[in-house]
Amino acid sequence: MNGSSVDSAVQEAMRAVDRRFFLSDANRPLAAIDAPIAIGFDQTTSQPSLIGHMISLLSLGKDDAVLEIGTGSGYPSAILARLAGEVYTLEIVPELFSSAMDRLGKLKISNLWGKNQSGHVPWGDGKTFSKIVVWAACEELPTVLLDQLRQGGTMVLPIGPHGESQRLAVVKKNADGTWQRSDSIGVRFVPFRR
Ligand code: SAH
Repeated sequence: MNGSSVDSAVQEAMRAVDRRFFLSDANRPLAAIDAPIAIGFDQTTSQPSLIGHMISLLSLGKDDAVLEIGTGSGYPSAILARLAGEVYTLEIVPELFSSAMDRLGKLKISNLWGKNQSGHVPWGDGKTFSKIVVWAACEELPTVLLDQLRQGGTMVLPIGPHGESQRLAVVKKNADGTWQRSDSIGVRFVPFRR
């Protein structure tokens, strides 16, 4: 995969999830536009093509347990839940968290769990994940997330200064616990808040 492509399994999952359902009444008419859209609290739901690209980089299968940082609208969470075995999602803003959980509950998604908690804090119970995706810009690779990534696992996240463009990074953890990072396209995300 190169550029910002979206693989066919992810395209199929995205066709099955209606972006309109995750937007406010006022913003619903914008759903078909491939651009970020405001979701309140100074946050946006990302551009669908970028969501699709980042999820493609995770190469998800039903044996994957995914940690998602930044539930936001819940739109990407619903796509992840169609592709992965289990999805664990963290959102720091209480109002966004509860409305996303309401929507995801209405869709009767049974393999998704959420917490209104910062991604700077581990999920808990010693849980680890085969895949991690972060929808907010990290100034550096967060150790707390690297620690929760299983050996052989993959993490996709934007890394770079807040308020400027960042690099989309793919981090792979090796079987011996070491890791390597490769950077791809330039992206622009809201900050991963402290
Ligand atoms: N992926 C979502 C939201 C993207 S915006 C969507 O497309 O709808 C990024 C989200 O990350 C926002 O909802 C923001 O509140 C959340 N966020 C920012 N810092 C966070 C942190 N430290 N822990 C958890 N969530 C965080």
